[in-house]
Amino acid sequence: MHALLEKQPIAIRELAARIETEAKVTIEVVRSAPLHTDGNFAKAPAGCGIDDNLRCAILIFNDELTPESAAHELAHLERWLIDGVPRLFFKPEFIPNIQPTEYAGTSLWFENRLEHFHVFRRMKDLGVDPTKGLNVEMGKQWADITAKFAKTALLASVPTGSNTANLHENLTPIGYLGTHLDYCITRRFVDDPAVRSCATDFMENRGLLISARALDRRLNSTLHDKKETARMLIRELRLPRDTAYLKYFNGPAKTVKVVKVWQSV
Ligand SMILES: [Zn+2]
Repeated sequence: MHALLEKQPIAIRELAARIETEAKVTIEVVRSAPLHTDGNFAKAPAGCGIDDNLRCAILIFNDELTPESAAHELAHLERWLIDGVPRLFFKPEFIPNIQPTEYAGTSLWFENRLEHFHVFRRMKDLGVDPTKGLNVEMGKQWADITAKFAKTALLASVPTGSNTANLHENLTPIGYLGTHLDYCITRRFVDDPAVRSCATDFMENRGLLISARALDRRLNSTLHDKKETARMLIRELRLPRDTAYLKYFNGPAKTVKVVKVWQSV
């Protein structure tokens, strides 16, 4: 096990050991320059990844691997490698997977948002407080969103408080749904009242609060099954059925399986 994982509190160290043993992988810890330069993401302390050869790594963007970052990134790896949960990718013609530096609005950003509904809960089991960094992160996220949206001619021309039924048709699908997911994450996991009311006011002033709360309820009934969540979101976005695919990782067999969202595994 990597020395920086060895140093972690027992529950986190045990999870790292379990992933390495059960999935037959080695978790590398690699120091890296930040991958993204946009907004908050430039300041993220860590990230993680897995490639098609089942090589997995935790990337750290400064010298330290804190228990919060270790628990967070291991919770992502646990989902893919122990729980057998697939990653959701959109085809690039619908939503780009990677842009050179910008992360918000990409397929990876979207997938990460979905996983966080589980990762934040798992961090609590591992003895770290997910709200510690989250209050700040989501606070900045809402400030960014508000600033970005306020700048667009579209939203500037929409009087706040009006019920704009066609508003989301004018936003990119990912922008529309991403904002809704941010609201759901804030509502579920952020405990700073200022951040919570910023999110609620933002959605309410744009006539999006009812649809966001409805999405939150639909997430409740699908979050246990990534395929169901993916199907629900694709319907929500009114995108064609073959818009996205799911990628499953099998560590011991060293295989990666890609299936369409409407195909059975
Ligand atoms: Zn994450």
